[in-house]
Amino acid sequence: MYAPRDVRVEQRDDPSIQEPTDAVIRVAAACICGSDLWPYRGADTVKRPTPMGHEYVGVVEQVGDEVTNVQVGDFVVGSFFASDNTCEICRAGYQSRCVHKVPMGALGSQAERLRVPLADGTLVATSTEPTPQQVRGLLAASDVLGTGWFAAVAAEVGPGKTVAVVGDGAVGLLGVLAARQLGAERIIAMSRHADRQALARRFGATDIVEERGDDGVAKVKELTGGLGAHSVIEAVGTQESMMQAIRATRPGGHVGFVGVSHDVQLPGSELFFSAVHLHGGPAPVRRFLPELIQLIMENEIDPGAVFDLTLPLEDAAEGYRAMDERRATKVLLTMPQAD
Ligand SMILES: [Zn+2]
Repeated sequence: MYAPRDVRVEQRDDPSIQEPTDAVIRVAAACICGSDLWPYRGADTVKRPTPMGHEYVGVVEQVGDEVTNVQVGDFVVGSFFASDNTCEICRAGYQSRCVHKVPMGALGSQAERLRVPLADGTLVATSTEPTPQQVRGLLAASDVLGTGWFAAVAAEVGPGKTVAVVGDGAVGLLGVLAARQLGAERIIAMSRHADRQALARRFGATDIVEERGDDGVAKVKELTGGLGAHSVIEAVGTQESMMQAIRATRPGGHVGFVGVSHDVQLPGSELFFSAVHLHGGPAPVRRFLPELIQLIMENEIDPGAVFDLTLPLEDAAEGYRAMDERRATKVLLTMPQAD
């Protein structure tokens, strides 16, 4: 990305092993994230031409001398922060806040090859070669599924509970899938787009609310006997979506917030009297990868259905435009044939 709305595909040097804990993978498929739209739209500054992409699956091509958990030829999934998976924070399940974390977006996974630092802690190998459909699912696990899943766990989703999901992007939609998988009784998806409503229903939504803001809150309350939902997933990151999430949650309930926060200001007094639990942040996707990979490889879930536009890497700029204009929910980028 050279500047807002200026995405170019160009030849870069192949990455190589720089640390003995690195791996280099040949990327099998990459994708464009809703969070890539923040700099694309100018909400985050782009100071210099920047490699893009932090979601990836692929085949290990090289490993450093100290890498023992993955081998050349393994099909692997990682997430948007490299993590050692051994420090105290990682062991508590918060790998996205690892004391040695490396943001993968700085390395740029929208590319044919990618260097992955801390490979032993970051990458999880599949036990068998995935099918093309499973590759799409595993790519979703790399971020949007893992993030939606964390949001559901943070919101304490479980059997017998009513869950509301604010945000109908890929993370919100996969938050619906996660809520279903974690046993929620009722799942209210908040969306005003027919195609996204349809996907939400396919993933397990039982109710759709089209209203937004306080009207949306009123609707959720109406559906829950005036109380609000037990669990609310916030997957947008704006002031309106965050307040919608907090206000749609019943006292004692839980909000799992995973939308990257942009200028959100929480009113202290309202928060105090809401009596809700707030838990969120950058999802520790690595915590959930082994379980998610298993569900995908056993065809228990099909999160790859969230990709509604597939383009070759060379057409990445069109992919950004399609997501920016909401013509696509989630764009998958295919790689050129091996050279
Ligand atoms: Zn760590």
